[in-house]
Amino acid sequence: MTDFTDLKLVQPLLRAIHNEGYDTPTPIQAKAIPPLLEGRDLLGVAQTGTGKTAAFALPLLHRLADKPGKPQHKRPQALILAPTRELAGQIGDSLKTYGRHLRLYTVVVYGGMSIRPQIKAMQRGAHILVATPGRLLDLMNQGHVKLDKVEVFILDEADRMLDMGFIHDVKKVAALIPEQRQTVMFSATMPKTVLGLASGLLTDPIRVEVNPEATTVEKIEQKVLFLPKDKKRSLLTEMLEDKAIQRVLIFTRTKHGADRVTRHLYQKGIKADAIHGNKSQNARQRALKDFKSGRIRALVATDIAARGIDVEGVTHVINFDLPNEPESYVHRIGRTARAGAGGIAISMCEPDERGYLRDIEKTIRQVVPVMDDHPYHLAELVADPGNSKKPSQGRKSAQSKKRQGGFNHRKAQRPQRSQNHQRPRRRTKKAA
Ligand code: AMP
Repeated sequence: MTDFTDLKLVQPLLRAIHNEGYDTPTPIQAKAIPPLLEGRDLLGVAQTGTGKTAAFALPLLHRLADKPGKPQHKRPQALILAPTRELAGQIGDSLKTYGRHLRLYTVVVYGGMSIRPQIKAMQRGAHILVATPGRLLDLMNQGHVKLDKVEVFILDEADRMLDMGFIHDVKKVAALIPEQRQTVMFSATMPKTVLGLASGLLTDPIRVEVNPEATTVEKIEQKVLFLPKDKKRSLLTEMLEDKAIQRVLIFTRTKHGADRVTRHLYQKGIKADAIHGNKSQNARQRALKDFKSGRIRALVATDIAARGIDVEGVTHVINFDLPNEPESYVHRIGRTARAGAGGIAISMCEPDERGYLRDIEKTIRQVVPVMDDHPYHLAELVADPGNSKKPSQGRKSAQSKKRQGGFNHRKAQRPQRSQNHQRPRRRTKKAA
């Protein structure tokens, strides 16, 4: 499969794809679109950045284009559930883009915004409803949405949906959709909980998978430097003096952390904004818009807020804090390698975060090269006292498997542990 025309999509879709400048389907699209056009249920393992939205949106639009008719009052023909407002918004935007030459109506509903316009929109009717679970249930409970005409049910980012505690809501919603339907589920990872949900919702699904974790990660130039916590902010401002950092996503673990970093950047004259769960929906949308348009150069985000953010041309990702879940690292740095482009991901590792880095390296099966010539990097912080038994074991095998020429060898950077640098964590424990 080399061309979109081979996929036998209707002309208006092919035109829209052409307008978008897509030449060839991405691997997940090439795998998922044909069975979806046949009406099969599908379980897709793919992350944001692989082109998964078009993989489910194009067959859906193709199917509805066949017999559009007027949208029915309150009764969509297709329902797409997404875990976050941002993702729901982006799916809605993609549907509008790909469906621009079709007469199909899409309505997007999510919490954090007035419900009134959403009620009105559903009264006018929509062919496709994109929703977050909580708001959808509110609308259903108030009688503004009925699911008895849904023919296609799509769940995006099922793993995150479960992480965020939406399993019961999803099941409630699914139970109200006619069994005679096409069901599609996408998830970045496939833990048992997701498989369990899939087996309850999907009928004889075809399973398609792309492995972006390796491919995406390999396209990104990753670097880490070790420094004390209190030096991170000044390092960040110095880094941002580099004009090559045109559009940068900066990640922190906490919402307050994101606000602090944003304030700091602002004080230093760097145009930045933050996006996290404590921000109003309007503020989040404004920040995202400003970032996309280039009005601000830096967007500071927490993991959940950033999930699914689709901004082209992110040149750099900076992990101001390392995430405590290795998968989040992959998601974060993937923001800078959208649809085939490469990017640079720099992580700041303070002494307490070395365990996180170790877990990340295990997950990506790579050792992240150290910026050992950077003035802020402190070689004596590289060794992890919490991992002092056999520091190079495991790491060594991972290195020899994956490491390519040019990578700095972590072990080579590691200073021998000096006598007065022994397992401080354990000592503290004993003392306590
Ligand atoms: P997604 O994984 O759906 O978030 O898509 C990631 C990005 O890839 C979006 O910016 C899409 O516009 C873009 N994209 C999707 N499909 C293609 C394609 N076949 N060729 C080029 N870009 C694409």
